[in-house]
Amino acid sequence: MTNRISLPSDQDATGRTFGPEELEAVRQCLATGTLTSTKGNFVKQLEASFAAKIGAKFAYACSSGTAAVHCAVAALNPEPGDEIITTPITDMGALTPIIYQGAIPVFCDVDPHTYNVTAATIARCISPRTRGIMVTHLFGNPCDMGPIMELARQHGIPVIEDCAQSYLTTYRDQYVGTIGKIGCFSLQQGKHITTGEGGIVTTNDEALARRIFLFINKAWGYGDANADHYFVAPNYRMSELLGAVAVAQLARLDAVVESRVRTAAALTTALAGVPGIETPVITPNSVHTFWKYCLRVDESVIPGGTVALGAALKDSGILCAPRYIQKPAFECQVIKNQVTFGTSRWPFTLARPEATDYSRCNFEGAWNALEHVLVLPWNEKYTDEHITYLAENIRNAVKLLTTKEVVRN
Ligand SMILES: *Cc1c(COP(=O)(O)O)cnc(C)c1O
Repeated sequence: MTNRISLPSDQDATGRTFGPEELEAVRQCLATGTLTSTKGNFVKQLEASFAAKIGAKFAYACSSGTAAVHCAVAALNPEPGDEIITTPITDMGALTPIIYQGAIPVFCDVDPHTYNVTAATIARCISPRTRGIMVTHLFGNPCDMGPIMELARQHGIPVIEDCAQSYLTTYRDQYVGTIGKIGCFSLQQGKHITTGEGGIVTTNDEALARRIFLFINKAWGYGDANADHYFVAPNYRMSELLGAVAVAQLARLDAVVESRVRTAAALTTALAGVPGIETPVITPNSVHTFWKYCLRVDESVIPGGTVALGAALKDSGILCAPRYIQKPAFECQVIKNQVTFGTSRWPFTLARPEATDYSRCNFEGAWNALEHVLVLPWNEKYTDEHITYLAENIRNAVKLLTTKEVVRN
């Protein structure tokens, strides 16, 4: 048995880096006395730096990843009842904005080995009412964007990329968030870089950029000759204090990603030959930036599958998540029971019946994915010692669980 050690956590200072750079930026920000981004320069600097970093024409900071997705959906300006195709394996923050904008989230299935949506699963969901396709690059591994963009082009449907988990992820040498029409990022506590809460929206399209900017700003036409509030929109602005922290965090991003990719590769090597587990299947021609590291557990080899392996690892202090979000998003009350505005169930009252058909047979891949996936917490502060600890504990747990089976037989 290995000595128990504790792994860095992205929930506190053990696995987050706020140094003199963040402190100095916050100090400078406070010294200006200007904490709103409508007057200050930190958020503007973040937006310019982030756009330049990933090669997008425009980037806008906002208050959360959920807000970023809301901006993206609102920029497409769907009619009530229009459909946005998306994944059932995601954060609820990627789904509620669709409903708030009066659109219907239409779930498509995922590949059970990459956990991502594919051109084939999306194609089955396209209808005359499809207004957008939202792809989520889950865990830092990109969706196979070539065929997805080709499908979207054929149908003239804009693609939104949810990049909350995929900073600096590339597909065919292009950063995600610049491949579709709009990219959405989150700066929430547990993401690659963080301001506690926060988000960024990217686009290369000038008209969409204008709508995103307006949506963040109560649709007030700053700088216009006859400025007005042009349409219904919230205040989703990021404050200058968070902008200051984000500028400093962005300077760390390359190192964060480099470390996560390197240690993930080390774990994959260390787990070679362990029976019953599949290490991450990385999309071809891509860089997976490992927001999390997932194992796919084969219960025919490891009795009890992901739940049993997860329980064994938790005994070693490895706070993994068997089954990730436990159930597909459409099994959550908000969507299953259509709990929206008062008792109206709007906008689901406008949905085609097929758009809300969550029969299990339509989601074989998603159910299969959740039944097998074991999500390991991942962190840029992992050292070789941490990787050895993870690998040894996984090996030992698998050995224990598989031998138990032999004894029982
Ligand atoms: C975190 C996350 C969001 C929501 O971001 P918040 O900043 O928590 O609002 C959306 N989509 C995905 C895939 C996420 O991981």
